Amino acid sequence: MKKDYYEVLGVGRSADKDEIKKAYRKLALKYHPDKNPDNKEAEEQFKEVNEAYEVLSNDDKRRRYDQFGHAGVGSSAASSGGGQYGAGYGDINDIFSAFNDMFGGGGGGRTRGGGSPFEDMFGGGFSGGGRRGRASTGIHGTDLKIRLKLTLEEIAKGVEKTLKIKKQIACQECGGSGSKTGKSETCQTCHGTGEVRQASKTMFGQFVNIAACPTCGGEGQVVKDRCTSCYGEGIKQGEVTVKINVPAGVQDGNYLTLRGQGNAGPRGGASGDLIVVLEEIPHDLFKRDGDDIIYDLSIGFPDLVMGTKIDVPTLEGHVKLTIPPVTQPNTMLRITGKGIGHLKGSGFGDQYVRVNVFVPKEVSAREKEMLKELKKSPGICPTSSDSESEKSFFEKAKDIFS
Ligand SMILES: [Zn+2]
Ligand SMILES: [Zn+2]
Repeated sequence: MKKDYYEVLGVGRSADKDEIKKAYRKLALKYHPDKNPDNKEAEEQFKEVNEAYEVLSNDDKRRRYDQFGHAGVGSSAASSGGGQYGAGYGDINDIFSAFNDMFGGGGGGRTRGGGSPFEDMFGGGFSGGGRRGRASTGIHGTDLKIRLKLTLEEIAKGVEKTLKIKKQIACQECGGSGSKTGKSETCQTCHGTGEVRQASKTMFGQFVNIAACPTCGGEGQVVKDRCTSCYGEGIKQGEVTVKINVPAGVQDGNYLTLRGQGNAGPRGGASGDLIVVLEEIPHDLFKRDGDDIIYDLSIGFPDLVMGTKIDVPTLEGHVKLTIPPVTQPNTMLRITGKGIGHLKGSGFGDQYVRVNVFVPKEVSAREKEMLKELKKSPGICPTSSDSESEKSFFEKAKDIFS
């Protein structure tokens, strides 16, 4: 499976250009073939790092990658499902960014049920570019991906979900510092720069390689009095409860990005993001068509001909639906506003009821008699092989073809 480009570079999804460049430089130097002769693994990693940088350093490519994953930037190996970001996936945050750009920002168009759920989730920071900068010191925590299954009823109105998730949290023993005493000191190997320079003499002359410091892993600081609970990492596996506001109208495969709610960063580094991939549970009764839903209803022939009122289910209880007289099979009747809430803007889609004729699998002797009686009437049964109605059938055919 193809790796996530952000993971390859070890940066969060909201990393800015400088951060990406820095991360790339560090990794490119680390895996450079000159430094790792005859090391296939390093060579592969070097390729990966370059590929990731090529995409993430280009605004246009990065946007397409964020929205559609590997498929969006034409990298071939989007097979195997393309990870969590396969084709067709869209970050809801990006959808809203586009929406706000279109309507001049501010999110004023969304006034359903007491404010936009995104303001709760992102502190109102999703207008315009949406990407928020992060503190650039320390090592970032990794992004965390989870799947969230939703019923059509939940999608129709939007829903707040409370989930327990396992993730890396700051160690409570040391307050996340990794040290019993909270102390750290400047790394002796790199003198706080996080980089080491190695001069190597070759037949072509002297080369200087810059690499991440092996002692401090590029942090420039080393922990004193290591915490025994987290072995100096400052993070531990833990469980947290998160509230996720899912807006109405989301689609299967959309994802929500909760900035800073992923894994905690080691030794006080910024947390990664929590990426919630949404999954729609197929409904027993309804098919979804965008923001509309379709319900198939089979009713008896006499009701189709004479018209009737019928109880039909909707996503919120039953409603009485009028079937007008002489309703033809496959007619779509609309129940306004009983569909799914629009993701962009306010209002709801509609429910369509596709009316079909009910044909019994068995009939009783009495019913058979009644049907035979009906069959005699050319108005009811124009194709009957009965001599009388046959005549009228040919009469009709003549009218049509003459
Ligand atoms: Zn600790
Ligand atoms: Zn160092």
